[in-house]
Amino acid sequence: MDSFWATSLIVDGERGCGVAGRTVIVGGGAAGIGAAGGVKAADPGAEVVVYTQYEDVAYSPCGIPYVHGGEIDDFQKLFLADKQAYVDAGIDIRYETEVTAIDTRARTVTVAGEGTVGYDQLILATGWDYADPDVPGGDLTGLYYVKNIRKAMEWDKVLDTVQRAVVVHASPLGLEMVTALAHRGIETHLVDPNPWALAEMADPDIMAPVEESWREMGAVLHFNTTLEAFVGDGVLSAIRTSSGMLPADLAVVATHKVPSNALAAKAGLKIGSTGGIIVDERMATSAEAVFAAGDCAEIPHGLTRVPLQGLTGSHAYAQGKVAGTNAGGGSRAYRAVYVPWGTPAGKWVIGGASFGETTATALGIPYVVASAEGISRARYYPGVHKIKVKLLADPTSLRLIGAQMVGGGEGIKERADYLAMAVKFGMTLHDLATMENVYSPAIGALNEPIALAAQNGLNALAGKSS
Ligand SMILES: Cc1cc2nc3c(=O)[nH]c(=O)nc-3n(C[C@H](O)[C@H](O)[C@H](O)COP(=O)(O)OP(=O)(O)OC[C@H]3O[C@@H](n4cnc5c(N)ncnc54)[C@H](O)[C@@H]3O)c2cc1C
Repeated sequence: MDSFWATSLIVDGERGCGVAGRTVIVGGGAAGIGAAGGVKAADPGAEVVVYTQYEDVAYSPCGIPYVHGGEIDDFQKLFLADKQAYVDAGIDIRYETEVTAIDTRARTVTVAGEGTVGYDQLILATGWDYADPDVPGGDLTGLYYVKNIRKAMEWDKVLDTVQRAVVVHASPLGLEMVTALAHRGIETHLVDPNPWALAEMADPDIMAPVEESWREMGAVLHFNTTLEAFVGDGVLSAIRTSSGMLPADLAVVATHKVPSNALAAKAGLKIGSTGGIIVDERMATSAEAVFAAGDCAEIPHGLTRVPLQGLTGSHAYAQGKVAGTNAGGGSRAYRAVYVPWGTPAGKWVIGGASFGETTATALGIPYVVASAEGISRARYYPGVHKIKVKLLADPTSLRLIGAQMVGGGEGIKERADYLAMAVKFGMTLHDLATMENVYSPAIGALNEPIALAAQNGLNALAGKSS
């Protein structure tokens, strides 16, 4: 894997020379639709067929929790394009149609209801599933796996009747659903086996204000608590946990994302340690003329080279574009990732880049911490919020290796994007301590919180060494 990603020899060029023939794409999510656009951009004459199990493509699943929470008033607003737009773009989408097998030698796929279909290039964008909670009661009515927008519309009506809900696991999607359900006025319980929320990626000091705000919103948090069973007589009535029974009308199952890789594995494609399909920087798999993109694939972390799977919708879309461009005869590389992330959680927004202290410690990576609490805009300007910034740097070179933040509504996303680039291009605490920043009372404070954190870190280190 390393040699694929270490140095890119690929010169990006979107246009191919019109030899794509027929590209079959399995998956109509962010990666599949990105791939379809990529093929067409490289070769407008290419035949592109997309198979999806769902009734729709081109909607934002990311918006579903905000409709449930009442911030967005209508599911229709989540649709980004209508079906005719794809017909007009020459992309043939086969809805509610499952691909059941791949023959990479014959270059065919088997499609339910269609039989054997040939391809010149195949792009797998089969995405992810929630990990099976693997406890009794998994077949009861009242278990909600948030994903498909049509199902979400039905579940939204059910939510009007729900008194007590349990969210199983404080994953990114779990976080959004705790906030949404509490916001909707439902008595909401969170059950998670770890000592704090989002423990797989965020540090406890970043999550503490979020947990406090959930409690203020009325949510009840059950950490260090394992799910043992869904209980009920046909319909869910309670959750059994290691700490006792929790009555519930609804369980939102937000277990971690696992790659949907069954088709690829059955076809003999190489699968990596995360369960994701192994790809090179062209998003090409181990089988000739077969590409993979999105949450079904794994991509190395830019610093550690540890493979990562189940990133975000924006990663999936960008990978799809690359896979599609290359399948269409163009030339484009997808680079190792530095993972900017962010999400509203409770009354705050959290985010970061690369990794935090918990992950660094688990991987045995040495680091020093530089942190500060700054403000999002001038302290006298209405709507000002605190922003806590925590930077991790290599103890010797002081090169930035990760960052995490929690704070008020604005600016976390932009800082996460910026800090991911800072990690990628090797910026140090010295660089960040002396960075230039925008100051305008309504949108930014005189002192940029990132710079303050770096300055504090350098001061602390100088104090230690003197
Ligand atoms: C509720 C929710 C909130 C989210 N919030 C965010 C967010 O805030 N930010 C963000 O960046 N991302 C968010 N995401 C995106 C998400 O986390 C993933 O990163 C994204 O869905 C990955 O896209 P994908 O195309 O790889 O896979 P998927 O979206 O899983 O799409 C897979 C596609 O493959 C199809 N498929 C699978 N197997 C077959 C088969 N055998 N035959 C035919 N079709 C098949 C499926 O029908 C589907 O069309 C959210 C997702 C959800 C559900």
